[in-house]
Amino acid sequence: MLEKIQEVLNSLSDLKASNAQELEAIRIKYLSKKGIINDLMSEFRNVAADQKREVGMKINELKTAVQDKINGLKQSVSTQEADQSDLDLTRTPYPIRLGTRHPISLVRNEIIDIFSRLGFSIADGPEVEDDWHVFSSLNFAPDHPARDMQDTFFVEQQPDIVLRTHTSSVQSRVMETTEPPIRVICPGRVYRNEAISARAHCFFHQIEGLYIDKDVSFTDLKQVLLTFAREMFGADTKIRLRPSYFPFTEPSAEMDISCNICGGTGCGFCKHTGWVEILGCGMVDPNVLEANGIDSNVYKGYAFGLGVERITNLKYQVSDLRLFSENDVRFLDEFTAAH
Ligand SMILES: [Zn+2]
Repeated sequence: MLEKIQEVLNSLSDLKASNAQELEAIRIKYLSKKGIINDLMSEFRNVAADQKREVGMKINELKTAVQDKINGLKQSVSTQEADQSDLDLTRTPYPIRLGTRHPISLVRNEIIDIFSRLGFSIADGPEVEDDWHVFSSLNFAPDHPARDMQDTFFVEQQPDIVLRTHTSSVQSRVMETTEPPIRVICPGRVYRNEAISARAHCFFHQIEGLYIDKDVSFTDLKQVLLTFAREMFGADTKIRLRPSYFPFTEPSAEMDISCNICGGTGCGFCKHTGWVEILGCGMVDPNVLEANGIDSNVYKGYAFGLGVERITNLKYQVSDLRLFSENDVRFLDEFTAAH
């Protein structure tokens, strides 16, 4: 008898009712006069006196369980029915206000997209870095001004740990772990100890690129950057390279594009020169290759780096850098159509 009751108990968990009729059928099956529980009660009379107590308790347990189960089903059936009666397919949907991507994200994604199509993959690295990856491995002299407290955020009492001042640190990490050929871009946030103004901020976003292989020339670099400039700013865009200096490249250059606001005729934005500076680039210094474990007699490479804010300013003519990090919805709303 005890086993029989247990079996009924076990079967309860499989019970389902999707409407009121099914629920009523379950009630009749278990609780009606001719239901399972009443049957058990009649059998109970024949149970031996010394087992009556145990069997009685078990039947009570079953009764409670059946009642609980039916109450539970009742609840879910009535919720389902209420849902169905409220369902009105002609109603106007709730006005969910979609946000918009941040202008920096829009432009960063666009830049990544262009270089992805040219075969560059994305590399990522830590923002809190050690001196080796940010400076030493990239040919910065021990007394280089970038290491100065004026430019770099150092971690207190740990002069070897800094907030990265450029994403070149990621290039260093890629070089020390990857066999050439290497073709990566490194997007990310960087930090410099600058007074915050319309033209400077203590953090901004960079995308740096690195290409290392045999027989890489400055011509390859120039062609890749020209393709990038035309994809980003339009097919008529011209570029020019001016000699420059960076510790990690030799020779080095700054690249200007023809001003996309006045079309090269001269305006306030390009200071009436018709040209706007957008990035720095050059051939990777052999010292950098060697410091990162790459044989400079076999491999050559080029590198470039650009500021995402700078490109965004040019593309959308944002005049104040601070707008990018103030989270003013009126400003961000301007980019709703720029997806
Ligand atoms: Zn101009």
